[in-house]
Amino acid sequence: MNYKKAREHMVESQIMNRGILNEKLLEIMKQVPRHLFVSKSMISAAYDDHPLPIGHGQTISQPYMVAIMTDILELKGDEKVLEVGAGSGYQAAILSKLAKKVVTVERVKELAERTKKLLKKYKYENVKVIHGDGTKGYEKNAPYNAIIVTAAAPKIPNKLIEQLAENGRIVAPIGPRWHQELIRIKKTNGKLEKDYFGGCIFVPLIGDD
Ligand code: SAH
Repeated sequence: MNYKKAREHMVESQIMNRGILNEKLLEIMKQVPRHLFVSKSMISAAYDDHPLPIGHGQTISQPYMVAIMTDILELKGDEKVLEVGAGSGYQAAILSKLAKKVVTVERVKELAERTKKLLKKYKYENVKVIHGDGTKGYEKNAPYNAIIVTAAAPKIPNKLIEQLAENGRIVAPIGPRWHQELIRIKKTNGKLEKDYFGGCIFVPLIGDD
């Protein structure tokens, strides 16, 4: 399989065709080797238009979902980003090329360890992987200019809103177990403004908040 060709095709047919025209993001999605983040048995499906299992009942998100969530975070390059739900590490790898620093939190220890090794091996050096409960954010590196939650919750955990910097953005799938709405919250002068970006389905965010 020619992975580079598969990536170009993925970006053109699944992402550009659905209206995402953020050139820098498209270029990075053409470069980041998604097949290295899925399990060996899934490699031939790595560039297909759907999520894939990554073990422990979790999934790597559909490429388009990674694209739209990243696009609406509106990264300029100088941000500190928090991701809740590291999973395979693919989303974190994409973010690492568009921001200054990425902290990604994962509650499943085996996934956190695997992702940490993988990101180190492939030299995504500005990503820190933390094993823990991301519903509490990660106080140590707060505040964050952007926060992305890649698991579904009925509402945005309060700690994440607290750890969001002024002018920061949170992107998250919010709603019940089998249907959520992709939302973005912006914090301006301490006030929160909400925008909606359509329906989606994510695995649940499991935490105390
Ligand atoms: N962004 C991932 C996809 C993640 S799937 C990728 O690119 O592959 C959602 C992930 O969120 C799962 O790995 C799940 O274990 C994790 N998760 C669920 N609840 C969590 C919590 N409270 N804190 C951190 N991670 C959590």
